[in-house]
Amino acid sequence: MPEAAAIVVLTDAGLKVAGHIRDCRPGARIHGYAPRVSGPDIAFDDVGAELRRLFAQGTDIVGVCAAGILIRALAPVLADKRGEPAVVAVAEDGSAVVPLLGGHRGANAIARRLGEALGVPAAVTTTGDVRWRVALDDPPAGWVLANPHHCKSFMARLLSGEPCRMEGEAAWLEHSGVEFRSDAALAVRVTDAPDVGDKDTLVYHRRRFALGVGCERGVAESELADLVEGALDGAGLSPRSLAGIFSVDLKMDEPALHALAESLALPARFFDPAMLEAQTPRLANPSETVFREVGCHGVAEAAALAAAGEHGTLRVAKTKSKRATCAIAEARSPVDAARIGRARGMLTVVGLGPGAPAWRTPAADRAIRDAAHLVGYRGYLDQVPAVPGQGRHHHRLGEETERVDRALALAAEGHRVALVCSGDPGVYAMAALVFERLEAAESAHWRRSEIVVVPGVSAMHGAAALAGAPLGHDFCAVSLSDLLTPWPVIEQRLRAAADGDFVVALYNPASNRRRCGLARAMEILAAARPPATPVIVARAVGRDAQAVTITSLRDLDQASVDMMTLLIVGSTETRVTGGHVYTPRGYRVKRGSEAPA
Ligand code: SAH
Repeated sequence: MPEAAAIVVLTDAGLKVAGHIRDCRPGARIHGYAPRVSGPDIAFDDVGAELRRLFAQGTDIVGVCAAGILIRALAPVLADKRGEPAVVAVAEDGSAVVPLLGGHRGANAIARRLGEALGVPAAVTTTGDVRWRVALDDPPAGWVLANPHHCKSFMARLLSGEPCRMEGEAAWLEHSGVEFRSDAALAVRVTDAPDVGDKDTLVYHRRRFALGVGCERGVAESELADLVEGALDGAGLSPRSLAGIFSVDLKMDEPALHALAESLALPARFFDPAMLEAQTPRLANPSETVFREVGCHGVAEAAALAAAGEHGTLRVAKTKSKRATCAIAEARSPVDAARIGRARGMLTVVGLGPGAPAWRTPAADRAIRDAAHLVGYRGYLDQVPAVPGQGRHHHRLGEETERVDRALALAAEGHRVALVCSGDPGVYAMAALVFERLEAAESAHWRRSEIVVVPGVSAMHGAAALAGAPLGHDFCAVSLSDLLTPWPVIEQRLRAAADGDFVVALYNPASNRRRCGLARAMEILAAARPPATPVIVARAVGRDAQAVTITSLRDLDQASVDMMTLLIVGSTETRVTGGHVYTPRGYRVKRGSEAPA
């Protein structure tokens, strides 16, 4: 899924235009200046900081505001022309659209589309586009320029009137208005072969070759890379002529295959054995052994041919190393790998933190924004802004296994899925259940998805920070919920924590029905600590109803504790100073002997 753009609005008057812009940019979200914009997807208070933050994370920006505001805000952070996102200014009443930065990285295209929607011309100022109707450094989809670093001087010479030769065929250039002459010193070359070009020659490749690979489980990255390099060399093909790497879905989780895709900057896509078996009449090397093992008569050749389409032909028949095979098929025109076969699915288990957006990590925001499907308890999903087109799968609180299974099944279908938890996803939350379900899974499909855990601020860390530094020395966490753990085990751990003089964070301390566990826990801890030991009662941390009370083992009001509460019980060293609780970093005898951190 492409990264969504941010529409930055500074006044209510700009909201109408922002709405039009969002209609043209599926997935875009409206970021509104909090004091002046009502009901944006995301509110912010500092205009410059918000623009710089979006720019730094590579998000395309459409600012519904004066161009000058964008220029002033972003000027200090402009650095690498090639790596930066597109920035477009749109007048508040929609009467002007100006691509400011990244013209050839999408800004011109965005501006043209918005201009059409708003009925105004896009103020495109990049030279090539004005003079020629094409951008030499931004060729159409499926085409790659091999030497973009030569483009600027090349274009300057064309603009000064030099003619140019055409070597090969490129329909998009023939109608561009560029003057072509066969005796010209400048040349545009279209080739499938390795060619780095030079200052007089721009080299373009068409991504019209499909690389099919097969391998044994655990093949070394270098073995596969060497095999593919040899095949490309032997056929005289540039890796830039490849559209993607294709294989059978059994290989979806093969590290060497993904390492190769990453090193060649290509997508990896997969077919099921039935789709590969359908290619058998076209295979140069059908194999009964492969059929018995995989269910199709070939993997590398079949995957390459399936990707190249019905008119595709084998350019390199199956070639082998000890543990891998590869083949290359050729299509007549560029192949769009994103539409062929399916990607390896990805399940990201995301922790939202305790509640406040400011305590949510940028990585968690990104994982949620990039997901095609969100799975989670409604209360958590409601905390994240809606992304148009994103699937949202609510489940009731008790249905954790169903929630995890749903997420795993969606990922196995090739989707990017975010499973949303509160706090940290690995702390009394769903990340562990994901691995448990994977271990027990009968469907091998589930195990082929990529699983990523994105950490979050746990309630314990949020509560500790609000109270001071109670976790400054050894601590532990115990959940008082006996739904999944027998009470005697919980009690044994509490006694061990008391014996060890750990600071103790208590999760799930009490519910309406379950109160006696809390009373017993306090009894156990109070038996080993003085009555004045500090206790932090942190309720609804990071939410509107947040309430943090510092009390003691003697004075704790157990009735005030519910499921939205986290308790931190100090050790014998924990103290209170000026309204803050802290636990010294060492016991007095040791203090001063350890290096600071
Ligand atoms: N993964 C979560 C914990 C989920 S278990 C995390 O890392 O925070 C649920 C328990 O966590 C609740 O019963 C409560 O004890 C605690 N908790 C979760 N969110 C909280 C919040 N915002 N304020 C206080 N306690 C919270």
